[in-house]
Amino acid sequence: MSTIKEQQRAATGHEFLDRSIAEVDPQIAEAIAMEIRRQNDTLELIASENHVSRAVLTAMGSVFTNKYAEGYPGKRYYGGCGPTDIVENIAIERAKELFKAEHANVQPHSGSQANMSVYFTVLKPGDTIMGMDLAHGGHLTHGHPLSYSGRDFKVVAYHVRKDDETIDYDEMDRLAQEHKPRLIICGASAYSRIIDFKRIREICDRAGALMMADIAHIAGLVVTGLHPSPVPYADFVTTTTHKTLRGPRAGLILCKEQFAKDLDRSVFPGVQGGPLVHIIAAKAVSFQEALTPEFKAYQMQIVKNAKTLAQAVADNGFRIVAGGTDNHLFMTDVYSKGITGKDGQQMLESSNITVNKNTIPFDTQKPMVASGLRIGTPAVTTRGLREPEMKTIANLIGRVLDSKGDQAVIQQVKSEVKQLCDRFPIY
Ligand SMILES: *Cc1c(COP(=O)(O)O)cnc(C)c1O
Repeated sequence: MSTIKEQQRAATGHEFLDRSIAEVDPQIAEAIAMEIRRQNDTLELIASENHVSRAVLTAMGSVFTNKYAEGYPGKRYYGGCGPTDIVENIAIERAKELFKAEHANVQPHSGSQANMSVYFTVLKPGDTIMGMDLAHGGHLTHGHPLSYSGRDFKVVAYHVRKDDETIDYDEMDRLAQEHKPRLIICGASAYSRIIDFKRIREICDRAGALMMADIAHIAGLVVTGLHPSPVPYADFVTTTTHKTLRGPRAGLILCKEQFAKDLDRSVFPGVQGGPLVHIIAAKAVSFQEALTPEFKAYQMQIVKNAKTLAQAVADNGFRIVAGGTDNHLFMTDVYSKGITGKDGQQMLESSNITVNKNTIPFDTQKPMVASGLRIGTPAVTTRGLREPEMKTIANLIGRVLDSKGDQAVIQQVKSEVKQLCDRFPIY
């Protein structure tokens, strides 16, 4: 029999507060346990993924998820924002220090919303924008017809060169002169070479265009000086915080002071409602980690690993798009050996190696099939793998892709993947 006190608590919902997730929802608890096992037993080579620290996880799981804080530090629409203001101010200051930027907005919920906020700051519907073709390495939000960015604006796409598969800056310049876009977007999701931000600024200036650099993938390399920074050149820099930067799943915008007020208004109330304060707290923690010398060493190892892995995959007979990599990822043209990206991805997944299929420039296959695989090293580097393990991984990948789906090979590789993973536990 329950006491009157317990009945009162039951009527308020308070009885839920101290129950474990296993008690409240065994199905989701089990799915989380499965995901922990999956991550532990998998070689994670998806270039946009990473494993965050316990400190970042703790901030994400904190009671700041309970807080409404529409507005900005010192100018909120809600009471009780004292601790929230501390969190957001620290996140802003660290972001500015990390990227050497004049202004930072740490509220975007995602990379896509960060980009949308910039567009709403400087564009009107129907304006012309220029972005890199998705099929050549760009991102959906850079003007693809299926994204808001391709629906609300007139889009001109630039490409990579056919000969060396690097960005065709001459074409970009020519198209900019011809179409006079209001905004030129650079940055990519599947591009393995250095992006020449200085040159893009010159192209923007000649065309009278504003410049936005979306460094979602390479942010970690940029803040550690391993990739040139767009911050001195671009009017706006957007990024995700969860890829090489190894923070929570979210976005961030940096801009010149002259756009600060308009940008803040376009994030809130323009595009978003209340900020995710728990995620902003986790961004602050990840920025703190990124400011350390250890983080620079980590980023250097990511690049060394990517170069080693690309070379070793090439040694197994696979063509590497753009001839190699300067950053954390590369694309390999598996169709050069008669395997589609789709089949390659599936076979590798059966061996607990996760990659994603990806179109390569001038692909002859449809996007859902694709000729390539995109392979990245941020996550495996986080769990401690170095060059010798990259050579092992290339060998495992080669055996799976050359197996023609032979289950014996796939199962043998899977057990070798498990042995490798067991030597490098994540947490
Ligand atoms: C990943 C990515 C994004 C989008 O990030 P989401 O958080 O998934 O919305 C935007 N731009 C580029 C270049 C990306 O690689």
